[in-house]
Formats: sequence, C-alpha cells, structure tokens
Amino acid sequence: MEKRFVYVDNAATTPISKEVLDVMMPWLTEGYGNASSIYSKGREAGWALKKAHEDVAAAIGAEPNEIYFTSCGSESDNWALKGAMQTLAKRGKKHIITSVFEHHAILHTCKALEKQGFEVTYLPVYENGIVKPEDVEAAIRPDTGLVSIMFANNEIGTIQPIAEIGKICREHKIWFHTDAVQAMGHVKIDVNELNVDMLSLSGHKIHAQKGVGMLYVRKGVLLPNLIDGGGQERGKRAGTENVAAIMGFAKAMQIANENIEERGAKTKVLRDKLIDNILKIEKTRLNGDRENRLPGNVNISIEGIEGESLLLSLDMMGICASSGSACTSGSLDPSHVLLALGLVHEVAHGSLRISLSDETTEEDVDYILEVLPGIVERLRAMSPLWEAMMKGENKKVKMMH
Ligand SMILES: *Cc1c(COP(=O)(O)O)cnc(C)c1O
Repeated sequence: MEKRFVYVDNAATTPISKEVLDVMMPWLTEGYGNASSIYSKGREAGWALKKAHEDVAAAIGAEPNEIYFTSCGSESDNWALKGAMQTLAKRGKKHIITSVFEHHAILHTCKALEKQGFEVTYLPVYENGIVKPEDVEAAIRPDTGLVSIMFANNEIGTIQPIAEIGKICREHKIWFHTDAVQAMGHVKIDVNELNVDMLSLSGHKIHAQKGVGMLYVRKGVLLPNLIDGGGQERGKRAGTENVAAIMGFAKAMQIANENIEERGAKTKVLRDKLIDNILKIEKTRLNGDRENRLPGNVNISIEGIEGESLLLSLDMMGICASSGSACTSGSLDPSHVLLALGLVHEVAHGSLRISLSDETTEEDVDYILEVLPGIVERLRAMSPLWEAMMKGENKKVKMMH
C-alpha cells in the first residue's frame, strides 16, 4: 500500500485556502498603510476594513456596526461572557447558564467568573450530545443574565437547537451568546433567525489564518471596552488592525457560505462511509447523535486502546487526526465532552476524532479505512486493558482507573 498524507483534523485548524491567501497578499506587501492614517495608503486600508465589516455582517444577517474583529475565537468568547456579566452585574444579574461540553474558552471563562462571585449552571448534554431547550428554560432564575450554548461541538460535532434556545432567552429577556466557531461554513448562520445576541467566530477553522476572530454584538447589548486605546473597532477594541488577516477572514466567510448544502451533502457521504466501516471493528461506538452532527465529524471510541498511541501510529502512516480536542491532547485527562456523554474513563481515552474538509477525497477515506483496522488490532494485542476486557474482567479494570 502506498503511503499518503491525509490531513483530517480540520476541527483543530485548517490550511489557508489559495483564494484567501490571494486576498491577503497585497495587504502584507504594498498595502501596509495604517487604516487610521489620512493619506491615501492609509485610507485604502480603512476602506478595505469598512468593506470587511459590511461583508462579514451580510454573511450572518447582521449590521456592519455589530461586527467586532478580534484576535481569535477564544478572545471573542472571553469578551462576550466577561463583558456581558460586567454590564449585567450592575442590573443585579449574576447567573449564567451554559453547558458541560462547551469549548474551554467558555468553560474556563465561566470558572473565572465564578471566582468573582458569579454563579453558573452547567446543563447536561445527555448521551446524544445535545442540550435540551426545556432544560435551559427550567434553569432560568430571576437573576439570570446570560445564556451561552455552543452551536456545534468541536469534538463530537453535534448541532444544538440554537434558534429554539434563543427564542426562550428572548421571551425571558436574557442575553444569548453562541460559540459558532465550528458551525461556520457547515450550517447556515443568520443571527436574526437564530435569535442570538452575541456570536463568536474564528478565522483558522474556516481556511483563513490563525489569530483573527470576530464577535457579533447585537445593537442594544452593551459590552465594556475590551482594549482601551485608539479608536479601532469603534473604540471598543483598540490596536492597529491586522488588515491582511481581516480581509482574508472576510473572504473565507464568503466562501464558507457558498453552497453549504451541496458541500455538506458531499462530505456527509465520506463521513458516513468512515463511520459505517470503522464501526465494523468490534467494541467501537459512535459518540454524539448520528443525524444532528456536522457533515465532516467522525468521533468513535475504540475500546481497549489509548488514543495517544493510536494517533502516533496513524501519524506514522501519514494521517493527522485527533483524540478529542487539540487543546486538551497532551494532557492525560480524558475529554470532558466524552465524559459528559456518560462514557467511562477508559472508553473516553480510546477515542478518535476525524474531521473532514471539502478537500478530503474518497481516496483519503479509503486509505484511512485500509490502515486503521490493522493499527487497532496491533495496539489491542499489546494492551493489558484489552486482554482483561476479553477475559471479562472489565469491571475490575474500570475500578482500577
Ligand atoms: C477552535 C475553537 C475555539 C477557539 O478559537 P481560537 O481562534 O483558536 O481561539 C473556540 N470555540 C470552539 C468551538 C472552537 O472549536
């Protein structure tokens, strides 16, 4: 079998596309003017940024002055939650509702807010990895100010009922934020149809560069300044703009919005081929709802092996995949997302996330399917966990962990 290079970790990051790079290049070279300067080299950058706000706003059904460019998705999430609670605290609101399986940019921000005296309810996501709107409603208290639920989960790809949750928040006059970093480009995003007040996006998950993000903030939702300084981003987030990154991001948003259905249908065929065939390996299970998931997400637990060993073996065959999220691999804690689904530690440990892109081909998928079963067999043959399981001592193994 001929070795290939197959990048299927697009939920961790994506390569910059050629179209995006082409848009960025002039701003990295001759277009270096400061967008706040008065001469034409500066004004040109200023106009470009104005157009970027308009284009990005149009892509999600917002107004240009509701768009704030940031340095990443994590920054957007931090600003949305900390900023909103700072404003809301003055109105006597101190309670936040979120879910147990959010990205760490949300969860760790909530932990930081708890240290400051705010209170947070973490809703369950059940075995299918989906938040129930009725749980959101039931958790609302008189002092609830903010709800933050992610649009699509970064590990298991499950898509949340955002419009329904947004409707409930609106009825109760509670601000609603969604981390839509993983949803962009795969699910249609319209901030009015979704009833959201704030929405976070990141460039590098949609084929733009790392280090650029965006926060949508609905008119009437008042956030304190994130960075004090110059008048950039209408004075709310100072710092000379990264024009090239922003222009590339705006282009990436446009491309991400084109033919969502068609692209998704094509990717789904490859995803389902992977899922169906990997599940033929004994003692495997799909994590997260089968239907309500991103078209490119495969997340499967393979019992009796360690995720890390699996990833290293795949890497030797030229395959880049992940076990859970990139932010937590390197730590030995099993994924908080998989534990939230009710998986026991050792099953959560042996999980594989494959995240496809438009560039993924059927040959890539066939190669993965050719390589994977042999690797699993070899790792299991060396695994004391697997041996114990096969002897029916599974219970004892579970207790040891
Ligand atoms: C990647 C990711 C982020 C963080 O975005 P950065 O730009 O890397 O900071 C936040 N939320 C989700 C769901 C993500 O997948």
